Amino acid sequence: MSEPEIAKPSNFIRDLVAADTKSGRFGGKVVTRFPPEPNGYLHIGHAKAICLDFGIAREFVGRCHLRFDDTNPTKESQEYVDAIMGDVRWLGFDWGEHLYHASDYFEQLYEWAVKLIKAGKAYVDELTVEEMREHRGTLTEAGTESPYRNRSVAESLDLFERMRRGEFPDGSKTLRAKIDMTSGNINLRDPVMYRIRKATHQRTGDKWCLYPMYDWAHGQSDSIEGVTHSICTLEYEDHRPLYDWYLDQLGVHHPQQIEFARLNLSHTVMSKRKLLALVNEGRVSGWDDPRMPTLAGLRRRGYTPESIRDFCDRIGVAKADNLVQMALLEHCIREDLNRRARRAMAVLRPLRLVIENYPEAQVETLEAVNNPEDATAGTRKVPFSRVLYIEQEDFREVPPPKYFRMSPGVEVRLRYAYVVKCTGLVKDPRTSEVTEVHCTYDPRSRGGDSGGRRVKGTIHWVSASHSLGAEVRLYDALFTVPKPDEAEDFTSLLNPRSLEVLRNCRVEPVLADAPPGSRYQFERQGYFCVDARDSGPERLVFNRTVPLRDTWAKIEKGGA
Ligand code: ATP
Ligand code: MG
Repeated sequence: MSEPEIAKPSNFIRDLVAADTKSGRFGGKVVTRFPPEPNGYLHIGHAKAICLDFGIAREFVGRCHLRFDDTNPTKESQEYVDAIMGDVRWLGFDWGEHLYHASDYFEQLYEWAVKLIKAGKAYVDELTVEEMREHRGTLTEAGTESPYRNRSVAESLDLFERMRRGEFPDGSKTLRAKIDMTSGNINLRDPVMYRIRKATHQRTGDKWCLYPMYDWAHGQSDSIEGVTHSICTLEYEDHRPLYDWYLDQLGVHHPQQIEFARLNLSHTVMSKRKLLALVNEGRVSGWDDPRMPTLAGLRRRGYTPESIRDFCDRIGVAKADNLVQMALLEHCIREDLNRRARRAMAVLRPLRLVIENYPEAQVETLEAVNNPEDATAGTRKVPFSRVLYIEQEDFREVPPPKYFRMSPGVEVRLRYAYVVKCTGLVKDPRTSEVTEVHCTYDPRSRGGDSGGRRVKGTIHWVSASHSLGAEVRLYDALFTVPKPDEAEDFTSLLNPRSLEVLRNCRVEPVLADAPPGSRYQFERQGYFCVDARDSGPERLVFNRTVPLRDTWAKIEKGGA
């Protein structure tokens, strides 16, 4: 994969807000909000919105609210509410005392609805969902008015009150705004404001059986909170005239809505409906499966909040839809961890290496640098002994061209240790698989000093008796194509090799104390983190966050 382009485009939203503060619009104040619906976990697309909403507020010394748009109790839950709050904090943002819920405004919204009915701007309708769809018309054809549209204000008021009291079954009646069934904008064709839903709400319990539609709740919630800049994704552009209409009818504070293009990321899906399907159908282990594009999944995978914020900075904010390559996200985490992660040696697919001329009982402790990018990270001791493990792929009985690792008769450097020369091998007589490699070491080459002769390859290793057993989970893209959303059945494009579990890995003893969630670079392999859920005192589990660029794979593929 080629290096992703790095550019920080200018941000038109920042410019708009700056102009407003300069002109004194909204009294020079800046109030934004992040308004998730608690019907799923947050994903990397939400991170873009969060960085923008909180970032703008921070930059202009305003404030950003966290508001749950909890208008649909059948799909929402407290689990999601808690996860969302945790994820926003983890990403590094804080709403302070400004935590709100659309459900806080149910009473006010109800009163405003009554006000619209009284003004002849809303009516109780009795069309079924089916009939309503038929009446709506199409993009090219005007809609037709409901036969209930012109019922009297008094009748609508009475019915609306009785809807609230629970006198009617689900789906039997709605409250609709009386706008224009011939409007070119379908959102203005008498949109539904309320539907009956006898469901228990995670906050209001059974107080309501009448729930506001998102479009009726959203703009008014912003208005109630004194939001100045209501930043949202492009699909709400066509809803803006409706939000404007509601606010104008009510004569209340009118935030400025600004739309931007949502983040689309390659090789994954981001719709909560699809992510929920992956969870429910058991295609992944949960919302925090490290292959998921959710913040919980990315965190478990080993992503840092810094790398995600950096990613959001780099993708910038624009009006035009585009597809961002997963490679860019990976680039951001590599760059961050290269700076910060301690190095360690881990052998994922072990092959025994016996040093024939190394004394049986001898153990040396060698000094290894913890992070060449950070002198303050210091050094550690790595035990070295007669029997080691090396990576199976670091030995070839018959080396292909440009293979500089271990093969018979060739000298290779053991990282931080000695130069060794392969002298023989042992094979399983049945499978002819190489089970053990023999070598001799040059005692004068301690620390890897080859004494002036040419030793091309350096490989990593662990001491067989000192190393710890570990499970390592290797992850690959969840989908096999860049745009799984375009397929009729997106699940048919799931990557069957998105997870490989290696149960017999050996890691340096220093990792015995690695805390859950801690991140390391396994030399020559990639970045890994201790799985926060499955790792424990008796069991070490590492997730591969991202591989290092594999130059060998490139050579093999490109035949360079
Ligand atoms: P879905 O499309 O799956 O229903 P949603 O966009 O409705 O998800 P919300 O909880 O309503 O999810 O989103 C909260 C906020 O995050 C909204 O302001 C929304 O515009 C923004 N957002 C959601 N997805 C993205 C994305 N891919 N890129 C940028 N912002 C996003
Ligand atoms: Mg939404």
